[in-house]
Amino acid sequence: MSRATVATIHLGALRHNLARLKALAAPAQVMAVVKADAYGHGLERVARALDSEADAFAVAALGDGLRLRAAGHRQRIVVLSGPDSASDIAEMQRLQLEAAIHHDVQLQWLAGADAARGRLRVWLKVDSGMHRLGFAPARVAEVHARLASMTGVDPEIGLLTHFSDSEVFGGGQTAAQVACFNRATQMFGGPRSLSNSAAVLGWPEARGDWVRTGGLLYGLSVVEGSSGEDFGFRPAMTLSTRLIAINRIGKGERIGYNGTWTCPEDMPIGVAAVGYGDGYPRSAAAGTPVLVGDRRVPLIGRVSMDLITLDLRSVPGAKIGDRVVLWGPELPVEIIAAQSATISYDLTCGMTRRVLFVED
Ligand code: PLP
Repeated sequence: MSRATVATIHLGALRHNLARLKALAAPAQVMAVVKADAYGHGLERVARALDSEADAFAVAALGDGLRLRAAGHRQRIVVLSGPDSASDIAEMQRLQLEAAIHHDVQLQWLAGADAARGRLRVWLKVDSGMHRLGFAPARVAEVHARLASMTGVDPEIGLLTHFSDSEVFGGGQTAAQVACFNRATQMFGGPRSLSNSAAVLGWPEARGDWVRTGGLLYGLSVVEGSSGEDFGFRPAMTLSTRLIAINRIGKGERIGYNGTWTCPEDMPIGVAAVGYGDGYPRSAAAGTPVLVGDRRVPLIGRVSMDLITLDLRSVPGAKIGDRVVLWGPELPVEIIAAQSATISYDLTCGMTRRVLFVED
């Protein structure tokens, strides 16, 4: 093996997390959101681990739906950004994928769908206030009627919206989005889907018929100051590497690129084989915790492409070859994200191709 950096994916944690989500969301059903290569955990790996328990999967784009069908998964699969072109429609019919419809251009493509290929299940996406994808509330009735009149579309039309701030429990934005969605859709039957992970935790009134959960499935929280474990979820990824050097550096010497950290005394500096070339965040601030053995030590200096430097004063017994954990069950990734001005999803999604993936 030429690199020491390993992402260990905990399949038992994934299964535990899905079971917990199902219990929390009931009677709503759970779409396991596996977009972005299952938030960096590996699409096929995660789908295989969850296959017997997942009611449905949600992906961002058709290509991921194709991968899931090719791997033999028979569940419902919702493509959250819908078709990207007219030719996607026939492919979605063939693969029996479901399409979130958010734009007039998609209605034009759908109108040309060949009903002989099968009726496509669709979800009408309502923009209840996030202003990313979706039809304005005032247009929902008209769009619903158009979809209902199309021969290539299944008559049971789902209704879907997405929240911008659901991790702010009790916040006005989500309350307004729930009210807006309910007003715009109250006259229609069909399954309804509003909640992402944080909404499952904080907005029970928004359960609907299906929740669409990604983060918590992987044990990741975006609720400020919390980790997935605080809500009973288990981290599904450990990122680890090895110490490849320990050097004694003198008082007053500067460490790493641009010398952003200066040794306050003569001290041991550990060098671990991970960097932004693996997906460890370059923005991680000095003081970000890293586990050497079972001790948390502070990152010091700049994160390089292949290496990080550590203050080893508190681990006098540290040796070259010792395991170093960047995040995992003993060191919540949410802490690293907070020290790097980002969210945990960004970190797990950012694993690069040179990271070795293993399962346990
Ligand atoms: N639904 C949509 C439309 C999304 O874009 C996402 C993720 O960004 C999700 C659901 C899942 O969100 P979370 O991972 O926070 O559960």
